[in-house]
Amino acid sequence: NNMSHAASSFSLPPNIISSRRRRRRVNNNNNNSSSLSNNKNNSIEKTTLKSSIIITPRASSSSDKMTSKQTTIGFLGAGIMAVPMALNLINNGNHNLIVWNRTASACDPLVKAGATLAKTAQEVCEKADVTYVMVSTPEATLEVATLAKDGVSDGKGYVDCSTVDRHTAQKVSEMITSKGGRYLEGPVSGSKAPAENGQLIFLCAGSESLFKEINADDANQLNKMGKASFFLGEEVGAGANMKLIVNSCMGSIMASFAESIALCEDASLSKQDLLDVLALGAINVPMFGMKGPGMIASDKNTKFAPAFPLKHQQKDMRLAVQLADELGRELPVAAAANEMYKRARRDGHDDEDFAAVLHAVRRE
Ligand code: NAP
Repeated sequence: NNMSHAASSFSLPPNIISSRRRRRRVNNNNNNSSSLSNNKNNSIEKTTLKSSIIITPRASSSSDKMTSKQTTIGFLGAGIMAVPMALNLINNGNHNLIVWNRTASACDPLVKAGATLAKTAQEVCEKADVTYVMVSTPEATLEVATLAKDGVSDGKGYVDCSTVDRHTAQKVSEMITSKGGRYLEGPVSGSKAPAENGQLIFLCAGSESLFKEINADDANQLNKMGKASFFLGEEVGAGANMKLIVNSCMGSIMASFAESIALCEDASLSKQDLLDVLALGAINVPMFGMKGPGMIASDKNTKFAPAFPLKHQQKDMRLAVQLADELGRELPVAAAANEMYKRARRDGHDDEDFAAVLHAVRRE
């Protein structure tokens, strides 16, 4: 069964594990109103207990610079996510960074921070020990891998963090491993701010040796860009599937949130009251607090500045619905949400934040 999953393992910096344990102890004394957050913490604890964990210590950045071995890291892509991820590698480790992007000028902030600009994607893989990729779509990922693959040779690492479907991840894996390289898919949960703050969550599958290497305490790679990294097995596609499942959940929640805001307007209720009520209850979601104020203050002319572009959210809904199709599972909620993002795209909101799905539900 190509959908079977090996037992997962994930690594967390020890400070995160211990702060969760602390939080759980505090929550145990609370009443039922906090049961949702208790469950969340308990399930994290359970995962921690049943999986083998690679703990990645977080040293201070100055000691990291002194102790980490010097490696050359490649980065392909220079969009909303790639730039802050690559900056965290440049600023927090003893790395040489070599970068390439289809539109070279987008690499300017990285070159300014000390990275070398390569002429081609192939040159990046030739010079780097490990190359990270963060581009938009399955098509872009395949295009970049096609350009990069001839630079890959025995033992080199290729970590593709783009959100794609499992078939694409498997194709890229083949392209890289047929050249003797090691492939890891590593799509991320988290948006622009977590990318800037090194708080991403990596959902990895593929080469376990590469996963361990880039998580090693002297590598300063995944732990500089993220707060946790899961290894979901050697079967490539597990990372893509997990990422699509997480994002279809997020996209459905956002679409439902947008509907609630619009209905509040129709019912002449205070939208601030809606946010306050949601924030106090068990269905509070950090995303409501982050996106809500901008959404309730918006009108039909508002352009939502992109942290997560709406066109990418719709791509993820489409790929999640496609995955469910392939597995014979009906997904009515996500499928309906997908239609809302499609409408927002048709109305020209591609490059706005996915909160712009509100435009698709408002009576305007
Ligand atoms: P973005 O800002 O739109 O950047 C897209 C990148 O892909 C750019 O570097 C772009 O190059 C490159 N690209 C697009 N088509 C290409 C092609 N045909 N060939 C080569 N390069 C191509 O996207 P992003 O928000 O950083 O997202 C990147 C990936 O991360 C997506 O898969 C997204 O779903 C996922 N993701 C995003 C977020 C988020 O909050 N933004 C969070 C988690 C995951 P040019 O500069 O030349 O156009």
